[in-house]
Amino acid sequence: MSNYRPDTICIHAGYSPKNGEPRVLPIVQSTTFRYESSDEMGALFDLEKSGFFYTRLGNPTLDAVEQKIAAMEGGVGALVTASGQSASFLSIFNICRAGGHVVCSSAIYGGTFNLFYKTMAEMGIEFTFVSPDSTKEELEAAFRENTRCVFAESIANPSLIVTDISLFAEVAHSHGVPLIVDNTFPTPINFRPMEFGADIVIHSTTKYMDGHATQVGGVIVDSGNFDWNNGKYPELTTPDESYHGVIYTERFGKAAYIVKARTHLMRDIGAQAAPQNAFLLNLGLETLALRMERHCANAQKIAETLEQHDKIAWVNYPGLKSSPYYALAQKQMPNGTCGVISFGIEGGRESAVKFMDSLKLASVVTHVADLRTCVLHPASTTHRQLSDEQLKEAGVSPDLIRLSVGIENVQDILEDLEQALAQI
Ligand code: PLP
Repeated sequence: MSNYRPDTICIHAGYSPKNGEPRVLPIVQSTTFRYESSDEMGALFDLEKSGFFYTRLGNPTLDAVEQKIAAMEGGVGALVTASGQSASFLSIFNICRAGGHVVCSSAIYGGTFNLFYKTMAEMGIEFTFVSPDSTKEELEAAFRENTRCVFAESIANPSLIVTDISLFAEVAHSHGVPLIVDNTFPTPINFRPMEFGADIVIHSTTKYMDGHATQVGGVIVDSGNFDWNNGKYPELTTPDESYHGVIYTERFGKAAYIVKARTHLMRDIGAQAAPQNAFLLNLGLETLALRMERHCANAQKIAETLEQHDKIAWVNYPGLKSSPYYALAQKQMPNGTCGVISFGIEGGRESAVKFMDSLKLASVVTHVADLRTCVLHPASTTHRQLSDEQLKEAGVSPDLIRLSVGIENVQDILEDLEQALAQI
């Protein structure tokens, strides 16, 4: 499968029916799996054999989707989760305990920021937020002896800041820690962070990967490239007594991180995806390559049109030559970035609200990265918990409107925007 191109992998990876089996990935709606003997099941519990025994730890429908996404990102294994939030949490908690420290880009989704800044901080994990535009020296300055990983978004939601993944990876590696990248916005169709040095990739699959707004989900993908044997990760390199002393790096080699995320954290925390949701996600993945092409083409046309409009104060889209991230986007994502645009309207917040309320085709929803065009004012919704200072650091100005361009006919979207702008 790895020899196929991305659009073929999207359709075929993860599930190859044998003679007489269903052509479409079946939903295995069973919590549990039958075995002939207790010994056989005991071997599964001890991680001596692989197989399904309880859906919290694994299920054939989930497994197929995990294999597909691992192939799409170029990783050795994946773990689907109940949400993007649980993927973010587990990806860090798998290697960072109380007393640990994380260097994190400040340009991240508001929900992820809350998770790190409040909940994980309350668990005893410290975060230092750094500018996504940091120089090497500025990044270096954020590291401490107890730093265990670096976290960033490849294209940040909603600031659309493009992160220099090669730079972040280089600095992380020079301090002996992995780089975790949230690749939700470009998807592996437009960007594969592991090719630029990222060690772990996560997604909110709720977004483009599903694309139809039918399920909330997440995924963690392990590149298998990071060498955990440097003394900083005893959870992976010393015996886990809850599995009779298994040492993940010895038993599972390159897949140590992702096996531990499943067998330790998913076992204990239970943030697993439902088989029905994995089925829906798989349907979305089958058309991801086609959809991303259309999202990006529509967004490019709309961004260029808005940029010329006299009622628009500013437009931010990494596909625009005026974007400070244009060159970096071209280097990392030459085939396109994402379908999300942000812009400000002359007249500030009042005009923004009037404009949004006048839209007919585009709907006002919290969601983003859907095949239907949708629009949101982050400062009063997804990012409302952030102070003005934190908003600024996350690249979200109070007048910012986030337009998630869908795959409708681009002319219909443009006409809708034009009639709404005419109301202000
Ligand atoms: N990461 C990014 C970039 C997101 O945009 C979101 C949600 O909008 C999340 C993570 C959280 O994902 P979920 O809503 O699936 O929990």
